[in-house]
Amino acid sequence: MSTWKSRTRAVHSGTRRSQYNEVSEAIFMTQGFVYDTAEQAEARFIETGDDEFIYARYGNPTVRMFEERIAALEGAEDAFATASGMAAINAALTCGLKAGDHVVSGRALFGSCLYILEEILARFGVEVTFVDGTNLDEWRAAVRPDTKVVFFESLSNPTLEVIDIKAVAEIGHSVGATVIVDHVFATPVFQPAIPLGADVVVYSATKHIDGQGRALGGVVLGTKEFIRGTLEPYLKHTGGAMNPHTAWLLLKGLETLELRVGAQAQSALEIAQSIEGHNQLEKVVFPHLPSHPQFDLAKARMEQGGTVLSVVVQGGKEAAFKFLNALEICCISNNLGDAKSIVTHPATTTHQRLSTEQRDELGISDGLVRISVGLEDTNDLIADIKNALSQI
Ligand SMILES: *Cc1c(COP(=O)(O)O)cnc(C)c1O
Repeated sequence: MSTWKSRTRAVHSGTRRSQYNEVSEAIFMTQGFVYDTAEQAEARFIETGDDEFIYARYGNPTVRMFEERIAALEGAEDAFATASGMAAINAALTCGLKAGDHVVSGRALFGSCLYILEEILARFGVEVTFVDGTNLDEWRAAVRPDTKVVFFESLSNPTLEVIDIKAVAEIGHSVGATVIVDHVFATPVFQPAIPLGADVVVYSATKHIDGQGRALGGVVLGTKEFIRGTLEPYLKHTGGAMNPHTAWLLLKGLETLELRVGAQAQSALEIAQSIEGHNQLEKVVFPHLPSHPQFDLAKARMEQGGTVLSVVVQGGKEAAFKFLNALEICCISNNLGDAKSIVTHPATTTHQRLSTEQRDELGISDGLVRISVGLEDTNDLIADIKNALSQI
């Protein structure tokens, strides 16, 4: 099994067959498990074996299959699946922190992650320093002996900054911090984070892992010691466990993940190339375009440039809205990584909560539109986007 390539692991790893030897994974829709004897129940509460379960908030066979499959794909020792990406990120951050601890975080974050760091952790006496994630000098200046966690989005939303995982992990480790990476945009396919030094990798499985808009889910990956020793006690007592039906959908999602995101990323590249320089656009942002500020790093580290591109249309919000409203194939929504192409205007939706100054600092202008490229025909998408641009 250790010699299996990623596509084989995505299809077979973690499979647990029942006595019926089913081909497709069984959905164990149960909250609990019956013990043969009182002695067995007692023994299980003392030590739970590999193929033993107590209560679905702690673990469930279908959920366990998903955890083992994604851990195998990521090259992580273990994983814990959660009800949403935010449940995963909240637990990964909070489980090891206490009042008085210090966290250094990249500034360009998913809105809810920013809320946890700025609002919730602050209330519990955790100090957070934000840095420009692409600036290694800022990371070096921010870490301190009491820095317990270093956190960042490896490929930021929606400006697609590429953070140097290896370099930031080295800085974090120099003070003994745990390096936690929100790796949603990079997916388990484009850039393995653990070999680059990440201690903990977190996904919103709602995005590419499901990839078909059916489920909300999340997962935390790391060493057995972190997942079972630090994270599991926190999660099993605070709730936030994944539903078995969701785990089954996500197992099916993993089977096709590499094929889907590979095709989506190829389309994203072709779209970015074909619209860069368009007279209605100020710029096109995509990590594998030579015009991207971290192009060399993105080429060196990422097999493909990702499934999302951002464009800045000339004419601000009014022009951006005209563009969105004129699209016929791309849906206006706020998910990403989906089979359906989705366009988002971050300034008025996902990043509406931020002040104008905060948005300026992050480069989220009124003309910025995020395009999550789906599985439609590439040429149809290019035609749809060019037609909508012509109507601004
Ligand atoms: C969507 C997303 C999340 C949150 O995930 P949910 O499944 O919506 O809770 C966190 N980080 C990033 C980068 C995301 O895109």
